Amino acid sequence: MASRMCDSVLVTGSNRGIGLELVRQLVDSPSSPLQIFAGCRDPNGPRAQELQELAQKHQDVITVVQLDTTSLASIADASKLVEAKLNGRGLNLIINNAGVNIPGSLAETGKREMVDVFTTNVVGPMLIAKNFHPLLCKAAAQFPHQTSMSSSRSAVVNVSTLLSSITRCPENFSISPMYPYRVSKAALNMLTCCLAEDFKKDGILVMSLHPGWVQTEMGGPQAPLATAESVSGMMKVITSLTEKDSGTLLDWEGKNIPW
Ligand code: NDP
Repeated sequence: MASRMCDSVLVTGSNRGIGLELVRQLVDSPSSPLQIFAGCRDPNGPRAQELQELAQKHQDVITVVQLDTTSLASIADASKLVEAKLNGRGLNLIINNAGVNIPGSLAETGKREMVDVFTTNVVGPMLIAKNFHPLLCKAAAQFPHQTSMSSSRSAVVNVSTLLSSITRCPENFSISPMYPYRVSKAALNMLTCCLAEDFKKDGILVMSLHPGWVQTEMGGPQAPLATAESVSGMMKVITSLTEKDSGTLLDWEGKNIPW
């Protein structure tokens, strides 16, 4: 039997798109985690039906957690619930997947658009990392003889995008201007760098991951990658992360993207 990829994982925004597929592939994997916390902002709403059905089928592994990443109260409640369910153990892996994009040419973008997208794409992952930090530390400390970092020990994966890359902006800006999205994801990358430095002492790996251009509501039907293909690549990258990957931006094939 394959060794477990990690004991426990939290995925935010897991009721549809890449997040739902992450939960599906995590639970179907021969090295499935023991506990999967599937964060979702409206677990009883119509958009969570598929996730609820999946959780029903795997009641022993999947816990659906109400988690609106823009709400401090929701994050605090979710971290308490996860802590209780972990029963004294730490949380190994957080995948900050929840994100938003809106049409974003300069003409379409005002203060509200910038602030709303920033709140979900940057403030959310920051508050999640901060609130779950004690549980990540606890997970890292469960490996007293291990000094290296990995996703099976303790890690935060921030789902970013190629469009966050300042270096690559001149070649893809005209295809997708997206001011709020690009700026917020570039800030998310800086959050990754800050957290990677800050959490190094705790043995927690932090990185940004680009899933490719994927057929989801956000990516649209013309995207070249099926959700399953993107997520299977993401899973391979996540399970093979080592110390050298902390504080980097990789794509779903494991290739480095310049900031
Ligand atoms: P979708 O729009 O298909 O799904 C977004 C998910 O995020 C939904 O589950 C949504 O929940 C959730 N979400 C949004 N805001 C919040 C919030 N405040 N609290 C909790 N959950 C929230 O997007 P994708 O699956 O395509 O994208 C997932 C991630 O991948 C995002 O971070 C995105 O930026 C990134 N990405 C996607 C690409 C693509 O081509 N699809 C390319 C590059 C990066 P709800 O149903 O409640 O709205």
